[in-house]
Amino acid sequence: MASQGICVLGSTGTIGVNTLDVIRRHPQRYHVVALTAQQSDEALFKQCVEFKPQYAVLVDELAAQRLSEQLIKQRIDTQVLSGVDALCQVARLDNVDQVMAAIVGAAGLMPALAAARAGKRILLANKEALVMSGDLFMKEVKQHGATLLPIDSEHNAIFQCMPESLPHGLQTAGVNKILLTASGGPFRNRPVESLHDVTPQEAVAHPNWVMGQKISVDSATMMNKGLEVIEACWLFATQASMVEVVVHPQSVIHSMVSYNDGSVLAQLGNPDMRTPIAHAMAWPERIESGVEPLDIFQVARLDFEKPDFARFPCLAMAYESLRIGGTATTALNAANEIAVDAFLNKQLRFTHIVEVIEQTLKQAIHIEANDLDTVLQADKDARSIALEWAARLEKK
Ligand code: NAD
Ligand code: MG
Repeated sequence: MASQGICVLGSTGTIGVNTLDVIRRHPQRYHVVALTAQQSDEALFKQCVEFKPQYAVLVDELAAQRLSEQLIKQRIDTQVLSGVDALCQVARLDNVDQVMAAIVGAAGLMPALAAARAGKRILLANKEALVMSGDLFMKEVKQHGATLLPIDSEHNAIFQCMPESLPHGLQTAGVNKILLTASGGPFRNRPVESLHDVTPQEAVAHPNWVMGQKISVDSATMMNKGLEVIEACWLFATQASMVEVVVHPQSVIHSMVSYNDGSVLAQLGNPDMRTPIAHAMAWPERIESGVEPLDIFQVARLDFEKPDFARFPCLAMAYESLRIGGTATTALNAANEIAVDAFLNKQLRFTHIVEVIEQTLKQAIHIEANDLDTVLQADKDARSIALEWAARLEKK
C-alpha cells in the first residue's frame, strides 16, 4: 500500500500530538505533508524536526517568521506559511490523503470545509464545525465525495457500533436509540451551591481525560455533551429524540447503539484518544495505536446514571438550540466560546457561562442556516451579544 499523506490541522494540541504519536508508530503507512498551529512556534519547530513536513503553517505572522528562521538554521526545508488562508491551502493539497481537523472552536470550520470541498478523507475532532454549520458541512461532504470519520471518542464508538452503511436512515437499519455516554466531568458530585466559586484550574482537571482547556471547561459544564448531541444528529442524520445521554463515570464504554431486537452494542477501551484516532486513520483496517489493552478485571464495575439537567443547564441549552434549529446552534457555539474564554481569563464566574449562552440564544435572531455567509454572520452577531452579556456579568 502506498504511504498516505496527512495534514494535521492543530498539530500542537492534545489531539494533534496524539495523532502524531499514531503516525510515528507507522512510518511505512503514513507521512506528514503539513502541520499547523496558531502561534506555538517552538512546539511546531520540534514537530517539523521530527516529521519533516512539506509545509508548516502558523496563523500568527511573527511566530511564523521565528519558525522559518529556526528551520533554516537547522537546514530543514519545510516551507513556512502564515495566516488563516494558509490553513485552507494545506488542507486541500493534492498530495494530502487525510486531513485531521483538530483545531479548537469555530476557527476550525473554514479549513475543515476546504478539506470537504477537496474531497478529502476528514478525521473530524473539531465538533464545533458541525455545531456551527452541520447542514452545510454535511452537504459539502456529500457533494464533493469526501469521507467524514468521527474522532470524538463517543461518535467514533457509535460509528463502530453502527451497521456498515445507512442509506435509508437509522430506523430502517433497526436502530432505536443512540446512547451517548458522558463522564459527568469534575463536578458531578460537587455541591451545586459551590459551583459559583470554582476556579479555571478546578474546571480543567478532568477525572479521566487529558484534553485542551476549552473542551475541559465544556466537560465541566457538560456543554461538551450538548455539543456532542448536536454532532451526533448531523453525523448520523438523526434527531435529538434518538440520542440519549447516559452518565457513565468510568469512561470505559465510549457510547452504545441500541437495536430493535433488544441488542445493545458498545465500544469499550481505556480513555485514550489514540484509539479513535488510529481507528479513523486506518478504517476499515485496524492498526496498533499504543493504547494499553483494557484490563476488564481492573475496571470491575460499570455505573450508569441519568444526566442531572438542573446541575448542568448547559446541556438543556444545547437541546433547546437544536429544537429551534437553523442558526440557533451557531449562536449556542459562539456564545459558549466567548463565555468559556472569559471564564478561563477569570472575567466570568463558572455559573455565568450558562447565563451568557441563555441570553444570547434569547436575543439572537435565528434563521435557516443554508449558506456559509448566513452561518458566519450568525456566529459574528452571537459573539457580540455574548461579549456584551459577559461584560455585564463580570461585575457580579
Ligand atoms: P487544544 O487546545 O489542545 O489544541 C488546539 C489546536 O488548535 C492547537 O494546535 C492550536 O495551535 C490550534 N488553534 C487554536 N486556535 C486556533 C486558531 N484560531 N486558528 C488556528 N489554529 C488554532 O485542543 P484539543 O483538546 O486538541 O481539541 C481540538 C478539537 O478536538 C476541539 O474541537 C475539541 O472539541 C476536539 N476534541 C478533543 C478531544 C480531546 O481529548 N482533547 C476529544 C474529542 C474532541
Ligand atoms: Mg467526546
